[in-house]
Amino acid sequence: MIVKKLLIYITVAIFPFLLAAGILLFTKEKEEVAKHERNAYRIASVHQRQWDNFINKTINSLNTVSIMLESSSGNWDKAKQNIFLKKLLLQEQMYGGIYILDPAGNRIAGTDRKIEEMAIPQEDYVKEAIKAKIATVSNKTDYLVDGQKVIGLAKPVLDDQQHVVNLIIAYLRVDYLSNVMEMLTPKSNIAVISEEKETILSMNKPISLSSSTIALPMNSLPWKIIVEQKEIKTEKIITKNWPLLLIFFICFHLLYFVIILYHHKKKADQENKENELHKLELVGNMAASSAHEIRNPLTGIKGLVQLLSEKHKDAEDQFYFSIIQKEINRINEIVSQFLILGKPTELKKQLLNIENIVTELKPLILSEANLYNVECHFEIAKKKLFVYCNADQMKQVILNITKNALEAMENGGTLTIKLKELNNRVSITVYDTGVGIPETELKKLFEPFYTSKSSGTGLGLVVCRRIIQSFNGEIYLSSVENKGTKVDIILPLNS
Ligand code: ADP
Ligand code: MG
Repeated sequence: MIVKKLLIYITVAIFPFLLAAGILLFTKEKEEVAKHERNAYRIASVHQRQWDNFINKTINSLNTVSIMLESSSGNWDKAKQNIFLKKLLLQEQMYGGIYILDPAGNRIAGTDRKIEEMAIPQEDYVKEAIKAKIATVSNKTDYLVDGQKVIGLAKPVLDDQQHVVNLIIAYLRVDYLSNVMEMLTPKSNIAVISEEKETILSMNKPISLSSSTIALPMNSLPWKIIVEQKEIKTEKIITKNWPLLLIFFICFHLLYFVIILYHHKKKADQENKENELHKLELVGNMAASSAHEIRNPLTGIKGLVQLLSEKHKDAEDQFYFSIIQKEINRINEIVSQFLILGKPTELKKQLLNIENIVTELKPLILSEANLYNVECHFEIAKKKLFVYCNADQMKQVILNITKNALEAMENGGTLTIKLKELNNRVSITVYDTGVGIPETELKKLFEPFYTSKSSGTGLGLVVCRRIIQSFNGEIYLSSVENKGTKVDIILPLNS
């Protein structure tokens, strides 16, 4: 029992909760990932633009120096050149140094820092610049003599015949670029990687191989900006979404309690119904077995009372005899109802035309209605409607129902009996314009011995239902107080 309860609890409350929580956290995590990705992309593009700006600006400066050299045609002396380059260096802190060399690598002018002049023309980017005759950026980092990490740029100066007459070399300070980047996005882990996978610079922590990253190529260089996406922590997502998770938890537990309650109620109802049936059957069986034993002495008593009533003609005595007769009739009626209740399924069933049964009852109902001063309408489908049932029992049901209807119309009214086919079923409906039934009483109608009449047995409707159910049919009552009552009998149609 406990295991079963636990199992229900897990399947109704715990499992769905975990599932819903899992789905929620999964979608939230996905949202978070997308957010971090967008963020990393934004950071990468900021630096990409920054770097392209630096490079372009440097190339522009070198172009300016080059134009000055080309147009001065030797008038620009070394001292002036030195002053100009120093000024440029002071103005733009990103330079580690700017130099003017001859094609062999001898320094003509330049800023103070020492460089290995003669080696410069051997550098790949310088060779490339001489060959292509345009400004070229080194695609790896270099170190100046004093250990400063730099990126070299070379710009050839051409004469009228397009011969290289000078080289302008500028060095960009990696530490300066790195500082600018850190100012822009102080918290992100970023790296700049060359084509050869050399790490030009890295900010904050080095990017771990396992983490997800965004890589954006630069326009001015074959390098990439790599930005690490922030790690997503499940605990953080849980703490952020705990109100929703709590609501889920409560909802699924509420659902669990509702289901348990419903289950209990259903069980109780079922037990009640079974008890009722059991009681009826017991009473029915007992009554049925003793019904004949009761009826025989009753017939005797009835005969004797009849005799006595002929002997004592006094009005008061006659009144008492009439009551005795009425009560004996009532006992008789109860006993015969008991007989049906006890063995409703024992009688033989046949395929019968309901139209015939109702038509046969017509004169009986009419004369009965006459006594109650009630007008009668019959609306019978002119069609053979076959139902698998027992004729006597079927008649008993219709008579019980019409009797109730007539008894509800003591001051006259209209009784309507309709017979028709409805969705492959037979429907018999009895309407009256009688006193009706209060709403509170409606659900008691099929309880054994429930009656509102002084001389009622309270068994008529119980018997009707037992019989109709034994024909696989259904019976319903609906009523409006002081307006009338409608009784619906639905039976399966046999074609
Ligand atoms: P009885 O007729 O012996 O009282 P029934 O089982 O036939 O027992 O009916 C139970 C009760 O249902 C009646 O006492 C009456 O209150 C109510 N009832 C049944 N049919 C009608 C009807 N057509 N109009 C008003 N009340 C009805
Ligand atoms: Mg009745």
